[in-house]
Amino acid sequence: MGNVLIVVETHNGQLRTASLPAVTFGKQLAEKAGGTLSLLVVGNNVAGAATEAAKLGAAEVLVAEHPGLEHYLAETWAPVVVKAAKEKGATVIGATSTSTGKDLLPRVAALLDAGLVSDVIGIVNATTFKRPMMAGNVIATVEVGTPIIVATVRQTEFKPALADGAAAPISKVDATVPSDTRAEFVGVAESKSERPELTEAKIVVSGGRGMKEGKNFEQVAALADLLGGAMGASRAACDAGMVPNDLQVGQTGKVVAPQLYIAIAISGAIQHLAGMKGSKTIVAINKDPEAPIFQVADYGLVTTWEQAIPALMEEIKKLKAAG
Ligand SMILES: Cc1cc2nc3c(=O)[nH]c(=O)nc-3n(C[C@H](O)[C@H](O)[C@H](O)COP(=O)(O)OP(=O)(O)OC[C@H]3O[C@@H](n4cnc5c(N)ncnc54)[C@H](O)[C@@H]3O)c2cc1C
Repeated sequence: MGNVLIVVETHNGQLRTASLPAVTFGKQLAEKAGGTLSLLVVGNNVAGAATEAAKLGAAEVLVAEHPGLEHYLAETWAPVVVKAAKEKGATVIGATSTSTGKDLLPRVAALLDAGLVSDVIGIVNATTFKRPMMAGNVIATVEVGTPIIVATVRQTEFKPALADGAAAPISKVDATVPSDTRAEFVGVAESKSERPELTEAKIVVSGGRGMKEGKNFEQVAALADLLGGAMGASRAACDAGMVPNDLQVGQTGKVVAPQLYIAIAISGAIQHLAGMKGSKTIVAINKDPEAPIFQVADYGLVTTWEQAIPALMEEIKKLKAAG
């Protein structure tokens, strides 16, 4: 019997929607392994998030609450996750491949002497998983041979768990924070934005090197705002300093799979496609008809962004005005 423990994240006391696909992964795996699913909420003042988590269809929600856990640090969180996993006899510990998940779970795996499979995109059986390699051009099937398995889960490949279950019991677990950590939380520099978070947005509008300079990204931002979406960028645009690095979509940036992805002046290099090709509908605007982005686009506009963005915005405004 394989019990599954999924670590869910919180933000400002609320459950992060990025964690919901990992819950779905946990449910599917618990079913395959004939075990139960527990969710673990770590932090401080996370009662609200625990109540939300309790509706997601798990057998139980565990809460590790302590002022010393308020700000995420792998050094303080990992031992708490390990204790909860041992207490529950979990044989699989998982989380979404967010920056926290990718930082925390390798440490958890090391403490448990467990094999780690990262960026899982599919479950073959209780010990075997699919994961992308080489910017998604190769899909590896990985069997984990250790008694305990640790897994991070690609957010875009599992449907978000729905809060439609009867409330599961919530209980506290040991949240003793180790006193001998060498790392200390100093502060968080959060970029403030009215726009939705890139990895959670239903619409993403991204610009590439063809935008030429940072100022021109104001037009990408205006289109994103009109659509209520998030703004993204190619690595070339980020590296050129046109926009901050946290907007980068792709193999070495963020992986997104919105309902609508609009790629403007982006050529469509495989490393960029690795971060957005799972999007439901892809629209490409590029002046070069041979640009590889058109091979993955559902709709393509062969024109300059200088022409396309104002024209698109005008039409969208008309549609909005017409209700
Ligand atoms: C290990 C590794 C990891 C990488 N990771 C990433 C990653 O995570 N994300 C990522 O994006 N890249 C990544 N890259 C870089 C990637 O290979 C490409 O170099 C990059 O994606 C190119 O960005 P771009 O499409 O904006 O620029 P370009 O390839 O230069 O394309 C610009 C496009 O703009 C078009 N254009 C120019 N002017 C206009 C105009 N006025 N109107 C309309 N279209 C116009 C051009 O026709 C062209 O197609 C990685 C590379 C490596 C080696």
